[in-house]
Amino acid sequence: MTFAQFTSYLEKLEATSSRLALIDILAQLFQQVEAKEIAKVAYLIQGRVGPFYEPIEMGMSEKLVAAAIAKAYGIEKEEVLKGYGRVGDLGLVAQRVSNKRQITSTELTVEEVFETLRAIAETSGKGTVEKKTTLLAGLLGKVDEIGAKHLVRIPLGSSRLGVGDPTLLDAFAQTKLGDRKRRKELEEAYNRTSDLGLIGQTLWQKGLQGVKKLDVAVGRPIRPELAERLPDAKTILVKFGGQAHVQYKYDGFRTELHKDGDHVRIFSRNLEETTAMLPELVEGVKKQVKAKSAILDAEALAFNPESDEFLPFQETTKRRRKYGVEEMAKKLPLKAFVFDIMYVDGKSLIDRPLQERMEVLKKVVSSDDILVPQSGEITASEERINNLFNDAITKGLEGLLVKRPDSKYEAGARNFNWVKLKRHSAGELKDTIDCVILGYIWGRGKRAKFGAGSLLVGVYDKEKDEFVTVSKIGTGLTDEEWKTIHARADKIKVEHRPARVNAILEPSVWIKPEIVIEVLADEITRSPIHTAGKEGKEAGYALRFPRLIKFREDKEPEDATTVKELTEMYQQQHKKD
Ligand code: ATP
Repeated sequence: MTFAQFTSYLEKLEATSSRLALIDILAQLFQQVEAKEIAKVAYLIQGRVGPFYEPIEMGMSEKLVAAAIAKAYGIEKEEVLKGYGRVGDLGLVAQRVSNKRQITSTELTVEEVFETLRAIAETSGKGTVEKKTTLLAGLLGKVDEIGAKHLVRIPLGSSRLGVGDPTLLDAFAQTKLGDRKRRKELEEAYNRTSDLGLIGQTLWQKGLQGVKKLDVAVGRPIRPELAERLPDAKTILVKFGGQAHVQYKYDGFRTELHKDGDHVRIFSRNLEETTAMLPELVEGVKKQVKAKSAILDAEALAFNPESDEFLPFQETTKRRRKYGVEEMAKKLPLKAFVFDIMYVDGKSLIDRPLQERMEVLKKVVSSDDILVPQSGEITASEERINNLFNDAITKGLEGLLVKRPDSKYEAGARNFNWVKLKRHSAGELKDTIDCVILGYIWGRGKRAKFGAGSLLVGVYDKEKDEFVTVSKIGTGLTDEEWKTIHARADKIKVEHRPARVNAILEPSVWIKPEIVIEVLADEITRSPIHTAGKEGKEAGYALRFPRLIKFREDKEPEDATTVKELTEMYQQQHKKD
C-alpha cells in the first residue's frame, strides 16, 4: 500500500465525529492491507512505530522537525517556526508549505515510511541531529501535502485521530470476522499480549484460531487484572460463596516485573516500560527470584530507610522520573509487594487458581528487603477480614484486596474476582473516580488569566467505547495546575467533538481525551445534562461537589472509571456499613 493511499484514510478518520464511522473507515482501509503490512499500519494509525510498551523514542523536538521541514522544502527554519506560532501544529505548516511545490512521485509505500521512522528512532551517537533531520526531510520530499501533515505528527506524538485500541479491535473484527461485535473474540489475546500489531498480523496470517493461541510471554506486558468494589466483608463472603483470600492493599504504583535470565524489564499500570526508573527493583528481581524466567504483579512503594516507614503516595510518585534516577533511588528507595505470579520458567500460570499461584509465589520469590512476597491468607470469617482491615488502616495502608481463592488471573478484566475494601470518611463516596478531561470552559475574573474556568470531564463507557460526560470541575486546582492543564490541553485541542466523545454540553474548547485526573465527590447524582449512563430520555449520572485530587499519569483514557463502575457505586452509596 502506498503512503498516499494510507494517509487518504487518515484524513477521513480525522474529519469524522462518529465512532461508527471511524470503524467503517478503518475497515475499508484494512480491506486493502496485506498480512505483511497490517502490524505497521496498526502502529502508524496510533502514531507509533511499535507496540505501546516498547520504549521507542523518536527523539525529535519541535525545533528538529521544523528543521526537517525547512530542509525538505528549501525554506528557512524561522519561517517554519513562525508558521507554527500562528497555527500551533507543525503538521498543518508542513501541509501548507508542501502544497506550494510539485512532488515527483507518490509511490512511497507505508512500509518504507515505517522503516525510515524506525531508523530515525534508532539513530544515536555522533551526528544524530543531522541524521534524523535528513531522514525525515528525505521522507517529506517524497510525500504529498496530506502525507506531509500526517507524517510530521508522528515524531511529535501529536496525531489527532482519536482511534483507541478497542476501536482498532472493532475494525479488525469487522474486516476479518464480518462483524465488529466479534471484537470480544480478539480481546482475550489482546489482554494477554498488549500488542495490537501482533494481533493484526496473526489474524491476517492465521485467522481467529491463531489469535486465540497467542499466549503470555516474558518481555511483553500482560494487561493487569483489576478490582471491583463491595461495601463490606459480609457482602464479599456471600458473593464468594464462603471463602476469601485476603491481602493488604498498598498505595504506591503498580509494577509488572519480568525476568528473563539476567534481563529484567518493568512495566507500569498502563504498560509503559519503566525499567530505567527503578534500578533497585531490577536488582531485587535478579537477587530474589529463584526462577530463570518469571512475570510478577506487584505494588511498589517508597519507604524511609532510616525509620523503615512507608511513605505516602505523593512521595512514592516522585520516583516516576527520567532524570536523577540514581539519586532519587537512594533518597526514596522502593520495596515491591509482590501479590501475584503469572508466569514461571516457560509456563503461563494465568489459568491456574489463585491459591495455586500463591504457592508458586512462595517458592519462587524469596523473602528479602526489596521484593516482599505477599501471599495473603484464606479465611471464611467476617471478623477476621474486619480485623485485617483495621490492622491495614493502623499500619497506614489503604485497606484490603479480597480475592476469590479459585479465580484465574483474568488479564485486563475488572470483575468480582478481586474486590477492594477501602477506608472512607463519613458522608463521602468510598472511592475516588478517575475522569478524562474532554474540554474546558472559559473562565471569568481571576481564572480567565489562566485560560480556563472549569473542565468538562467524563468517564469511559467500555461497552460502547465512548467517553461520556459526568461533571464540570473547577475546584481543587491551584493556579499552577490551571496553567499546566491549559498548556497541556492546548497541545491536544481539536476543532470538533472527537468521534468517541458523547456529550450534550458543549465546552469552549474540545480536547483529545488523553489526560486522566482523580476526582473525589460527595455523591453520585442523576442529571439530564450528562451522558454517563444516560439511556434514551432517562437522566445520566453526575458528580456532586467534585474536586481534583491528583493527575493519574499512570492511566490511559480507557483506564478511567467506567460507566458500569459508576452505576455500581451509585447503587452502593446509600447502603450503610
Ligand atoms: P484500578 O487500578 O483498579 O483502576 P485505581 O488505580 O484507582 O484503580 P485502587 O482503587 O487504589 O486503584 O485499587 C486497585 C490498585 O491497588 C491496583 O491496581 C494495584 O495497583 C493496587 N494494589 C495494592 N495492593 C494490591 C494487592 N494486594 N492486590 C492487587 N492490587 C493491589
